[in-house]
Amino acid sequence: MSTTVFVLGATGYIALHTVKDLINKGYSVVGSVRSEAKGDKLVKQLGEKFSYEVVPDIAVKGAFDEALKKHPEVSVFLHTASPFHFNVTDIEKQLLTPAIEGTTNALKAIKAYGPQIKRVVVTSSYAAIGSAEADVDTSLTISEETWNPVTWEKALENPILGYYGSKTFAEKAAWDFYKNEKPNFILSTVNPVYVFGPQAFDEDVRGTLNTSAEIINGLLKLNKSDSVPPYKGLYIDVRDVSKAHIVAFESDAAKEERLLLSDDRFSSQQLLDILHSKFPEYADRLPIGNPGEGASTGAKVVNDKTRKILGFDFINLEGTTVDTLKQIIEANK
Ligand code: NAP
Repeated sequence: MSTTVFVLGATGYIALHTVKDLINKGYSVVGSVRSEAKGDKLVKQLGEKFSYEVVPDIAVKGAFDEALKKHPEVSVFLHTASPFHFNVTDIEKQLLTPAIEGTTNALKAIKAYGPQIKRVVVTSSYAAIGSAEADVDTSLTISEETWNPVTWEKALENPILGYYGSKTFAEKAAWDFYKNEKPNFILSTVNPVYVFGPQAFDEDVRGTLNTSAEIINGLLKLNKSDSVPPYKGLYIDVRDVSKAHIVAFESDAAKEERLLLSDDRFSSQQLLDILHSKFPEYADRLPIGNPGEGASTGAKVVNDKTRKILGFDFINLEGTTVDTLKQIIEANK
């Protein structure tokens, strides 16, 4: 019988790639989704190796208890669900609480009702490692050991800091639980920077995409006279993030590690330069900006340990940008 992996938040951009890759590798997957309609859609897309449990609100105490009681065959648990958008009016209620409570509820349920679960991977973020300062200060160095110094008060200042706080406090809660409760499972985290790359299924490319993929989708919505959007930072391809989630529980070297997934820096101008060079038919419709202006600057990112554990090369900026654009352009036809 194949190993069964529970994927919390199976509908997400990163999670869907991971579920697809897991199934291709022979795993069975039980996903949690927020409604039956969402679950049924995934069953159609993913086939018989996928089944689902409805967990409407991850922040509710005991949210996962029944799902885990029903699946004693699960031996690996991936927690990928967390609010990742900045369209919030109540930072604590909409970002901080679901991220933190969602994580602790999941880990408590695993300890109580899934003692057979041996490996747990929490999808954290670069947001739990870097900081607003690291985005600009070239004298800083960021690695798997670094923690975002954001405080609760700071996190309440605006939705971007709120998201940074949500990921930092949720990941800290996971490691604290692990240290204090001494559960049966081994914990690892995956900490990606901005994730680009195609959606797992072409049919899901419609309107506004998930927050990070929308940075590339948004370029195609610009008009000639618009200024170039201000996005800059670090990127990684979603297909590499998916592979990393699997290495995170398959590999001994990944035990109790934080995998910092970052290929390199990018800027919106660089994305636009790639768009113009690979899809010249858009030259008349989209702004040009300052071609060749280059990547952003910021803290030095050292993730040699992660790269060694993963043992594969990351997709580069041109690869991730071109594949994202190709899928969107095809879907818009
Ligand atoms: P996404 O497509 O927006 O997926 C988010 C997932 O979380 C969805 O399954 C969503 O369910 C679920 N979710 C959000 N809030 C929830 C809540 N309150 N209760 C239950 N489920 C909830 O985002 P993604 O980019 O794949 O992100 C997945 C994970 O990666 C998150 O933990 C995020 O913080 C992390 N991450 C993402 C990036 C990036 O650039 N994309 C970078 C670093 C880390 P619905 O589909 O039902 O809304």
